[in-house]
Amino acid sequence: MVSHKKMHERNVLITGAAHGIGLQLALGFARSGARVMMTDINESEVLQRASELELEGFQVTGVRCDVTKESEVKFAVAQAKVEYGGVDVLINNAGIQHVDLIEDFPVEKFEEMIRIMLTGPFMLSKLVIPLMKQQQYGRIINIASINGLIGFAGKAAYNSAKHGLIGLTKVAALEGADDGITANAICPGYVDTAMVRGQFEDLARTRNTTADKVLEEVIFPLVPQKRLIDTEEIVQTALYLCSESAAGITGQSIVIDGGYTVR
Ligand code: NDP
Repeated sequence: MVSHKKMHERNVLITGAAHGIGLQLALGFARSGARVMMTDINESEVLQRASELELEGFQVTGVRCDVTKESEVKFAVAQAKVEYGGVDVLINNAGIQHVDLIEDFPVEKFEEMIRIMLTGPFMLSKLVIPLMKQQQYGRIINIASINGLIGFAGKAAYNSAKHGLIGLTKVAALEGADDGITANAICPGYVDTAMVRGQFEDLARTRNTTADKVLEEVIFPLVPQKRLIDTEEIVQTALYLCSESAAGITGQSIVIDGGYTVR
């Protein structure tokens, strides 16, 4: 039997929710009526964003959680249990970027990135899956990337972490299949966020040009739709994965990239 929960009955925990895609996901789920626990390494920002949303009338709480620290991950899940009674939807979103050739990539940076984008999602899944099994319902959404599907020079850690995250998604899907739990990855291409704009600016500096020129001359030729992805496209996909009609979608990687990986 496939169980279902209505959106207003859902408790959602999102990592890296102070900025960018995570913040938009928090807003999207809050607007749909869910109770949202926004977590982030940046405590002051996440508390600020959460209190702004609360003032707008949404059911939102902010909690500090550095996903590399097991004690903070445990604390965030414990808080979700105390305040909301559990976690129905886990969105592993926190991520960082660092670009270097393998030969120049600092080992510490590589390990930090794997810990943020792979070990963190593993620790959170490990804690929430038993809660989801108890209630015979759960949705795990891992924000991966097209970097989890194809190789990009200079992105040894990011690419390895995102490939691993897609593997973790498949295992969670198999292990949760008998208990009403689905796990899926969303794989965006270039999304219009501060993180990506920053990358274009870095590239522009090395080429002595502007970020807009980088977009037009370097990025758009790679993207058949010649545009950046809007965060709302990620939000609507995540909401769909939590809808009753998506109950049979599990272990999948949903690519939103304007056609980047098609050819
Ligand atoms: P942002 O940098 O805007 O947001 C990432 C958030 O994660 C920030 O609030 C950041 O906090 C937080 N964070 C960083 N380290 C940790 C940590 N150790 N524990 C908890 N939170 C942490 O990035 P985006 O919104 O662009 O990216 C969100 C996700 O989407 C990432 O996983 C990224 O890989 C993925 N993605 C993004 C794409 C894009 O084009 N933007 C494309 C494909 C995938 P702070 O900034 O305060 O350090």
